[in-house]
Amino acid sequence: MDMDFVLCDFMTTHLEYKALYPELMYTHSKPGFFLDLNPIDGAVEGFQWLMESPHFDPYILTAPSVRNPHCYTEKRLWVEKHLGIAAAYRLIISPNKALNIGAYLIDDNLTGKGQDGFAGELLHFGSERFPDWDSVLDYLGPEQKRQKKGA
Ligand SMILES: [Mg+2]
Repeated sequence: MDMDFVLCDFMTTHLEYKALYPELMYTHSKPGFFLDLNPIDGAVEGFQWLMESPHFDPYILTAPSVRNPHCYTEKRLWVEKHLGIAAAYRLIISPNKALNIGAYLIDDNLTGKGQDGFAGELLHFGSERFPDWDSVLDYLGPEQKRQKKGA
């Protein structure tokens, strides 16, 4: 799964930085930006559910902001802070997502970082079909999810 706009709430911090640092052309070029992001609603629970499920082997697949070299460290720190150290072992930072193999890619973009070349199924996060984490988990594992919720 992707980080920005899927696990990480990029937009809220972007708007905060815009107000704090109006001179910045790219808010995400400022050191600290990526570590400051909050998780998207349901993302932490969604990731943990996938980690615990015997049916999935989840990895985090994020493209770097190459012109902000701090992002490579901050993404790693963000993952440990919000998802735990086990998740840090599952962090892949790659400018071309097509080079990785998986059954699914959960991403808010269909193109730009190799998403369109990814061999698995692309779940378009933020779209009408997959507006949030609940809709993704419902699609990936409705039976297991219902059991977990006790429904
Ligand atoms: Mg993204």
